[in-house]
Amino acid sequence: MNNKLVIANWKMHGHQAANARLIGGLLPTLERLDSVQVAICPPTPYLAQVSELLADTAVAIGAQNLSERAQGAYTGEVSGQMLADLGCRYVLVGHSERRSLFGETDAQVAMKFEAALAAGLTPVLCLGESIHQRRAGNTNAVVGSQLKAVLDQVGIEQLAKGVIAYEPVWAIGTGASASPEQAQQAHLHIRQLLAAHAPALASRIALLYGGSVNATNAAELFAQHDIDGGLIGGASLDAACFSAICQAADTGALPVSADNIYNKDPA
Ligand code: PEP
Repeated sequence: MNNKLVIANWKMHGHQAANARLIGGLLPTLERLDSVQVAICPPTPYLAQVSELLADTAVAIGAQNLSERAQGAYTGEVSGQMLADLGCRYVLVGHSERRSLFGETDAQVAMKFEAALAAGLTPVLCLGESIHQRRAGNTNAVVGSQLKAVLDQVGIEQLAKGVIAYEPVWAIGTGASASPEQAQQAHLHIRQLLAAHAPALASRIALLYGGSVNATNAAELFAQHDIDGGLIGGASLDAACFSAICQAADTGALPVSADNIYNKDPA
C-alpha cells in the first residue's frame, strides 16, 4: 500500500472569483480519487472561502505559514490556533521562499514546527539546497542540518507527527524539476537520517517532493520508492494540471482514511 499526499501551494495568487473557478474545476477529479489525500493551501485571507468550497469533500485545507508565537501583540501575525479554528489541517513550515525572502532561520522554522503541533496542525517541513550548495556537493549536509534543527527542538516522536517536503531551491518555480533519481537520492538520505533516530517511525513519515512538478513528470517522480507525494506550486493553479498530478498520485490502493494516509509500511 502506498497512499500519496499531494499538497497545493497557491502562494500569493488568487481572488475570490478565481478561487471558486479553480476549486470548481478540480472537484470532479478530486472527488473520484481512491488512494490520495489532497490538501490545498490558499493565501491566508481565502482560507475561510476555500474551506467552505471544500466542505463535505475529502480535500483538506492548509496554510502557507504561521507564527511561532501562540498569541499576543504581534501585529500582522497569524497563530496556529487561528488556522486550526478556520479548519486547517496542514501548515507549511520553512518554505524556501520564507527562508530566503523573509529571513526565516532554522531556529525559527523549528519553533514554527512546534507551534503548529501545539495547535493540532500537521506541519509540512520544507527542506532543500540551493544550486550552489548542490554543485559544491553539500546537498546531504544542508538538508541534514535543516532537519536537525527541528529534531533538536521537538525530538523524533513529535517530528514524526509532521510531513517533510524535499524541495530543492533550484527546482522551485524554475520549470527544472529534479530528476526522479536526484529526488529519490535525497529522499532516501532523509529517510535514513530519520531511521537513525527511530527506524519504525521513519518509514511512516510522508516525504513529499516539490519543485516544478507538472502533469508530465509527476507519475515518474511519484513512482520512486521514497517519494510519498508532492508539494505543488505553479501547476496547482491550473485545474487541468493539478487534476492530472493528483491522478498520477492515485495508485488505486485502499480508500483514504485518517489512519492510512501516511502509513507506507505500517507496523
Ligand atoms: C513550491 O512553491 O513549493 C513549489 C514546489 O513550487 P513549484 O511547483 O512552482 O516549483
